[in-house]
Amino acid sequence: MSSAALCDIPVKLERGQREVFCGLTGIVWLHRKMQDAFFLVVGSRTCAHLLQSAAGVMIFSEPRFATAIMQDKDLAGMADANDELDRIVKRLLERRPDIKTLFLVGSCPSEVIKLDLGKAADRLSLHHQGRVRVLSYSGSGIETTFTEGEDTCLEAMARAAPHTDDEQLMIVGTLPDVVEDQLARLLDACGIAEAAKNVSFFPPRRAETLPAIGPNTRFLLVQPFLNATRRALLHRGSTHIPAIFPFGVEGTSGWLHSAGSAFGVDRQRVADGYAAPMARAQKALVHYKDTLHGKSIWFMPDSQLEIPLARFLARECGMKLLEIGVPYLDRQTLSAELPELPENLGIVEGQDVDLQLDRVRAAKPDLVVCGLGLANPLEAEGVSSKWSIELVFSPIHGFEQTGDLAELFARPLQRKQLLAV
Ligand code: SF4
Repeated sequence: MSSAALCDIPVKLERGQREVFCGLTGIVWLHRKMQDAFFLVVGSRTCAHLLQSAAGVMIFSEPRFATAIMQDKDLAGMADANDELDRIVKRLLERRPDIKTLFLVGSCPSEVIKLDLGKAADRLSLHHQGRVRVLSYSGSGIETTFTEGEDTCLEAMARAAPHTDDEQLMIVGTLPDVVEDQLARLLDACGIAEAAKNVSFFPPRRAETLPAIGPNTRFLLVQPFLNATRRALLHRGSTHIPAIFPFGVEGTSGWLHSAGSAFGVDRQRVADGYAAPMARAQKALVHYKDTLHGKSIWFMPDSQLEIPLARFLARECGMKLLEIGVPYLDRQTLSAELPELPENLGIVEGQDVDLQLDRVRAAKPDLVVCGLGLANPLEAEGVSSKWSIELVFSPIHGFEQTGDLAELFARPLQRKQLLAV
């Protein structure tokens, strides 16, 4: 399918009740990535409980996230709320000299919505200049779903990053360090790092060392949900390299070829660079093909990973796609992915959960990818499920993770087979 046909892919819009986590969830993986950052949620007890249960309680180390609970009394005056926030931040910074970047994370209780966290971040940055950088973003359940918390965080960082005119390739999206190292080695082995002169990863491992951005920055996304970040980087004059996402053999090789052609690296040189890890990935995938081939799968809208993962499962594992639900569809971010999907496939943007569950029951898919709240009821009805949150928390990018990625989908099907015996 040509890219001109992108607009022809039928997308049904659905507006109704949604079953998705809020953007605060992103703190779970963002705080692990940026070792000198602290995430202060300005929220309610509900927000604190969500974070505690999603991230677990750290027993052996000081946590790098917390919730400043805005009480009803703060409603009496915004001056009080701002003073209270300033006091909390002062106490936190005195106690934790290791914090170099502080994120104020907005949430959805009404008393928080009334606070201008952008202004609070500017005020606190000025006040603690030279000691800490303070940024703000929203993780509110009204404005963001699940992975959009990472998007709004990286958008804030992209706006705050220093300027450079130097040439560079920037890899954008949070990856576990081990996966980041693997991709860095691949870019090196394929001759792309040399051609690009400089490769940086965004977000960095230390938020303090925010990579500089400018008109000679070309960037590749590794996460398909970074729509606002992509726009913020374009706004800084950088150039997006459209590519499919590095999931599976085709995804990772396609991603590398897009980078290679952007920097004028010979196609064969790129292919030679990834030949050995690709062979390992192909071998790992063989183990799961029998389980996955011909099985039908349904994606509920949740993580925004749905489209690249559906492409991987259909093209490389032979699965039958019944419906792909996505919370939002940004055709620019996914411009290289959409043409790789089978034709005449139903994509649903948004959610009306009751109608969607009715369609699942009628279609009887072998596997449904969905949020935690829907998995248990579906399992009770005999429908196998895969928690989409697992796909976000597990290392799934690149050649070395291809087998593990296929296994994540094969496991619930194998479990059902075993139970049926
Ligand atoms: S941000 Fe909103 S949706 Fe998320 S935990 Fe807090 S109150 Fe709930």
